[in-house]
Amino acid sequence: MAVMDAPTTVDDRPGPTDTLGRAMRDLRISVTDRCNFRCTYCMPKEVFGADYAFLPRDQVLTFEEIERTARTFVSLGVEKLRITGGEPLVRRDLPHLIEMLAAIRRPDGGEIDLTLTTNGSALRALAGSLAAAGLQRVTVSLDSLDDAVFGAMNGIDFPVAKVLDGIDAAIEAGLAPVKVNMVVRRGVNESSLLPMAAWARETGVVLRCIEYMDVGHSNGWRLDEVVPAAEIVEAIAAIWPVEPAEPAYRGEVAGRWRYTDGGGEFGVISSVTQPFCRDCTRARISAEGMLYTCLFAVEGHDLRALLRSGASDADLGDAIETIWLRRGDRYSELRSQATSSLPRIEMFAMGG
Ligand code: SF4
Repeated sequence: MAVMDAPTTVDDRPGPTDTLGRAMRDLRISVTDRCNFRCTYCMPKEVFGADYAFLPRDQVLTFEEIERTARTFVSLGVEKLRITGGEPLVRRDLPHLIEMLAAIRRPDGGEIDLTLTTNGSALRALAGSLAAAGLQRVTVSLDSLDDAVFGAMNGIDFPVAKVLDGIDAAIEAGLAPVKVNMVVRRGVNESSLLPMAAWARETGVVLRCIEYMDVGHSNGWRLDEVVPAAEIVEAIAAIWPVEPAEPAYRGEVAGRWRYTDGGGEFGVISSVTQPFCRDCTRARISAEGMLYTCLFAVEGHDLRALLRSGASDADLGDAIETIWLRRGDRYSELRSQATSSLPRIEMFAMGG
């Protein structure tokens, strides 16, 4: 059994730490399991067709339940809330929820970091109202600037131009710096890497390249389709010299690289070849109120039952704290042939 390295830095701020000394600082909240895309690495259309039965409305947490849950997590030390899905912008009246979450304060009275991950398809329509409601930043998923390649990744031939227009709208609304997540899959879009890097340097968005991962149990993941982080950095550095940049905070997912010519920076998320579990401070809440302590979890903890059974905020807090104190997840460090057949929860069902 591989012995896990100690966390890189000690986090002595208040809040529970898990069995590996990791605090809970980052909550990803899935506000819907629905999505208008069918990205091959997340929700392949061969498995999740147009008639796929998503969660019935009454099983999805209400805005009040989401706000109460988020407020409880913040009282336990969470400092960053990331709104996800499925595709969060398909949830009706989302700016209203953003307004409710933006009002939450940390125990020391400080503001929380409130961000959102989207496929960008509805950003032109919503960027302004989301920013006005208190959203601070957005991350947009875009796997290529080439329509055919992007279509091969998103499964519905959604045009690149519409996503680019959404990114412009986000920048106009002040939701910057905009980060752009690009999943790199060998044999599909690795030829898009350098054009994406060039575009990001020109537009000032922060490109984050993601190693293709064995999330869920439906995307047919194969190791030989992973483009390792080292290869990604090497390809970019061959054109624009780079140097490593320090993480902005403990638990930051992406390894950061700075262009030495002042052209900004990019990041690489290397869950497969350079796991970062020892600093993982992330919890996830699914649209139906399940708490997951790892992206590759096979089971979760039902908080909705507590929320709908009259439990107090203190009861809810105790339940969350007890779950976190017992946490020992480090899937990416243990990934092997043996783990490949595990019935992992689908990424879109827990918020990525
Ligand atoms: S594999 Fe699980 S424990 Fe490791 S970094 Fe990812 S979410 Fe965290």
